[in-house]
Amino acid sequence: MGLTDIKARIAKAETDAGRAPGSVSLIAVSKVQPLDRVEAVLEEGHRLFGENKVQEAAGKWPAFKERFPGVDVHLIGPLQSNKARQAMELFSAIHSVDRPKLATTLARLAQELGRCPELFVQVNTGEEPQKAGILPADADAFIAEVRGLDLPLAGLMCIPPVEETPSLHFALLAKIAARNGLEGLSMGMSSDFEEAVALGATHVRVGSAIFGERSYG
Ligand SMILES: *Cc1c(COP(=O)(O)O)cnc(C)c1O
Repeated sequence: MGLTDIKARIAKAETDAGRAPGSVSLIAVSKVQPLDRVEAVLEEGHRLFGENKVQEAAGKWPAFKERFPGVDVHLIGPLQSNKARQAMELFSAIHSVDRPKLATTLARLAQELGRCPELFVQVNTGEEPQKAGILPADADAFIAEVRGLDLPLAGLMCIPPVEETPSLHFALLAKIAARNGLEGLSMGMSSDFEEAVALGATHVRVGSAIFGERSYG
């Protein structure tokens, strides 16, 4: 456990899969973690982090960014349209684009601000009613819609159902990406990032295996 160990395991998974070293970006998911744990990982030199709430990220990252140049934070949780402007200012990528209204809002703001974070379309590969994401059957049309809005679409993201084999979901996500000519695949968390790398992940989102368990107390 810890940053060094996770980086070594990613490097091994890349080699085992015949992929180039460094082809997978490690997003250290710092949500809910005590600030001293986050700071320790920054001190180790890591610069790419993930947060799932706009408000929480806004409270913690501006100060860290001043102290640690080169920090990038990605939004990996659901985004409400009314927080889109703030999200575009805070994050260098948004992994949770999952509906036309949000895409339209992001496109309008991108025009206004003259820039836009890299975007990932979230696909609800398990078709779970409580989970965000576009359904697999609607993904191709939605991807075309996002592209039609002239937004910088980097790839796709998924969170597999907890009780199912993650590989099936990673493979489905990779298949949808390939047929749409998308390179980016945001998939894999603490318990399954090596399988995700084997199936083509370009971004793994690892929280507790780096920082320790989250305590929501
Ligand atoms: C919290 C979270 C993670 C990290 O989960 P761990 O199991 O702690 O690695 C990854 N992706 C998303 C979308 C998350 O919300």
